[in-house]
Amino acid sequence: MKLLLLFTLLLLGVDASNVPSIKNLQFIRYADMIPSYACNLQVNNEATYCAGTSAFSTNYTCLCTSPGWLESVMGCLSYDKKNTTTYLKGLIRYCKIQGQTSLTIPQLNQAYEQYTENAKNTTLVDGFNKTEVIDYPIKLDPFGIQLYRDAYDQYLGNYDDSLYYGAAIYGYWALVLLVGAVFGWARFLFPSAYRSNGKLVNGFRRNITLPALVGKAKTSAKSFGFMEYLAPSRIESIILFGFLIVMIIMVSINTDYIPGDPVLFNRAAARLRYVVDRCGIIATMMMPLVFLFAGRNNFLQWITRWQYARFVTFHRWTSRVMYCLIIIHAAGYTKELGDFYTAELKESFLKAGIVAAVSGGVMLMQGFLYLRRRWYEVFLIGHIVLAIMWVAGAWIHVDKLGYVYFMYPVLAVWFFDRFVRIIRLLAFGFPLAEVQLLSDETLKVSIPTSNYWKSSPGGHAFVHFLRPTSFWQSHPFTFTDSVVQDRHIVCFCKVKGGVTNGLYKYLSSRPGRTAQIRVGVEGPYGEATPAKFSDTAVFIAGGNGIPGIYNEVVQLGKNVNSNKTIKLIWVIREMKSIYWFYEELRALRNTNIQTTVYITKSNAMSIELTDRKFDHKSTDSTGESKTLGSLDYKSYEPKGEFKDDFDDMKHELSHIEFRDGRPDIQEIVAIEVDECQNSVSFVTCGHPVMVDDLRYAVAKNVVNPGNKRVDFYEMLQVWA
Ligand SMILES: Cc1cc2nc3c(=O)[nH]c(=O)nc-3n(C[C@H](O)[C@H](O)[C@H](O)COP(=O)(O)OP(=O)(O)OC[C@H]3O[C@@H](n4cnc5c(N)ncnc54)[C@H](O)[C@@H]3O)c2cc1C
Repeated sequence: MKLLLLFTLLLLGVDASNVPSIKNLQFIRYADMIPSYACNLQVNNEATYCAGTSAFSTNYTCLCTSPGWLESVMGCLSYDKKNTTTYLKGLIRYCKIQGQTSLTIPQLNQAYEQYTENAKNTTLVDGFNKTEVIDYPIKLDPFGIQLYRDAYDQYLGNYDDSLYYGAAIYGYWALVLLVGAVFGWARFLFPSAYRSNGKLVNGFRRNITLPALVGKAKTSAKSFGFMEYLAPSRIESIILFGFLIVMIIMVSINTDYIPGDPVLFNRAAARLRYVVDRCGIIATMMMPLVFLFAGRNNFLQWITRWQYARFVTFHRWTSRVMYCLIIIHAAGYTKELGDFYTAELKESFLKAGIVAAVSGGVMLMQGFLYLRRRWYEVFLIGHIVLAIMWVAGAWIHVDKLGYVYFMYPVLAVWFFDRFVRIIRLLAFGFPLAEVQLLSDETLKVSIPTSNYWKSSPGGHAFVHFLRPTSFWQSHPFTFTDSVVQDRHIVCFCKVKGGVTNGLYKYLSSRPGRTAQIRVGVEGPYGEATPAKFSDTAVFIAGGNGIPGIYNEVVQLGKNVNSNKTIKLIWVIREMKSIYWFYEELRALRNTNIQTTVYITKSNAMSIELTDRKFDHKSTDSTGESKTLGSLDYKSYEPKGEFKDDFDDMKHELSHIEFRDGRPDIQEIVAIEVDECQNSVSFVTCGHPVMVDDLRYAVAKNVVNPGNKRVDFYEMLQVWA
């Protein structure tokens, strides 16, 4: 019975001291109103000024217009000088918000005068009954006044403080991004100063900024049973761990219970309330950041020069932490409401909060790598729909509580990103691209560019193939400037299971395995690496990772003086891959780029290509036969005598060294570090395992006997 009473009181306490249910308050900041809240509760606990009300079930309009109440509250405020103009304005705001009553400063001053003249000590009033309505002001016990104030300072002060704690989280990210920006820009603006090779710098790079979290896997997925996941790099993990620590501190500090708390009554209830309120506020404040991290056109990329994939990693982890706060918030309030939960559900803001929480939970689940990898488009559309439900639910929920202003930047960053995407698409136009299926494995997409287009070496673009089944999908592909047509870019898209497979099937049945397809291009994103600042730049591409690498290496070949060594290593599984990149390889003939092609399954070529699923005819678009000698490679497909063709082709590509087998990445790195003058950069894009191997090898060689500067840049970005 006692427990029930306590719980009922607790619940009533929750109601009485609840956040004012007023819409669109400008940031409810309680500081100035806290003494008024405290005095109101204390006065109502000691006396009754409005019939049919109690301390926990009041009629604020009645109270604020009741002279006795106002005089008592003014007397209470005068204790320890809480009747300055600031607090009087707080009382005016309090009555405005709670009771929709307008008071003025002269009215309050007059009420105080009345208090000094007429206030009574209720213990001295004969037959005083605190449940009977009175009209005179009462004197309050100073110890009680201080206790109520302390309790409200803690309870409502927590709402105010939570804004600062949320701001501290932003402060943490601002610091991280600032440090990132300083290093990111220093590398470009002061490359020579950036070539520091000191022990401390190298130790830091070797152990912190370069490696995967543990072992080698960073771009390649790890798995835990059937659960696949991408581990953040070591530096990303440190940043995220720091964020988690700051978050835990911000959520848990200053949640002490005020002994004898007349508002929340006991330690457990008080601490729970402080934490759940704070979690709700900080989670709301984090939303703009979480959405900003997810945007392709997020300005933080420009500030820090970090890759989009890193921000996607931050998006994933900050949203998980944000969701934990929401769970604590929701579970905490469910506990606080207890048996009254169902009745409270009538409130639409609560229903909206539940919609947001459920859609957020589903979003986290459907974002698992296992699902993203297998059904990317389903994941993407589901993610967008759920995010809309999340924003709508959260909006209605926090609007009621005065925090709707944090939702504006959420929409702002989201709409801005979409807006820039549309502008980029429109600016590019929707040209007809020539799409050709080559070697049964790769789509060569040659796209005329718009006037505004400025290729960024190493960049990528999102391509929409405007076909009825796929126009709404946009897929990222690196590109290279065409070596045969001005103002054209070329993407080399490996045939996989989705849109590329649809194109594969479509092109397989077409003459010359070619079609003109209208495309939308959104980009370019990304930029060249700072490899040009090293004496030696080694570019290592795997399979279809070649276009971006090629574009950068060619730019570098054009621009650098002859003292620099530029090497291009391309690793392919089978010889047939050379056919789709033949023109580009041939264009390297008169450059100072030393190119080596590794063919890892050289024996497989003859088996697979003689047993081809389609008829390789060496025809051009007019249907004429071609021979390799008179190569217009655009339309070349290997003929039956593949070995001869390949030998001819090798002859054409005599400036390129062909090697059978897998490259020994460790060995390549060790040799290049040894042979370079003072510095060497490794740039890579390709199979995630290869990229991870290279990063690992570079990290191991950062500290080297010749004390040479060794850098690593990955173009590969993995977010799915
Ligand atoms: C920055 C970047 C540059 C890339 N450059 C190239 C390139 O030059 N050549 C090349 O062949 N491939 C490149 N890729 C990979 C390419 O985007 C996918 O192979 C392509 O989207 C697969 O399309 P699909 O519908 O046929 O694949 P599906 O069979 O549906 O999926 C195959 C794989 O591709 C991933 N994927 C599917 N859609 C997307 C998407 N919209 N965004 C990211 N990943 C997706 C899936 O998660 C899955 O792991 C690049 C990827 C990124 C992130």
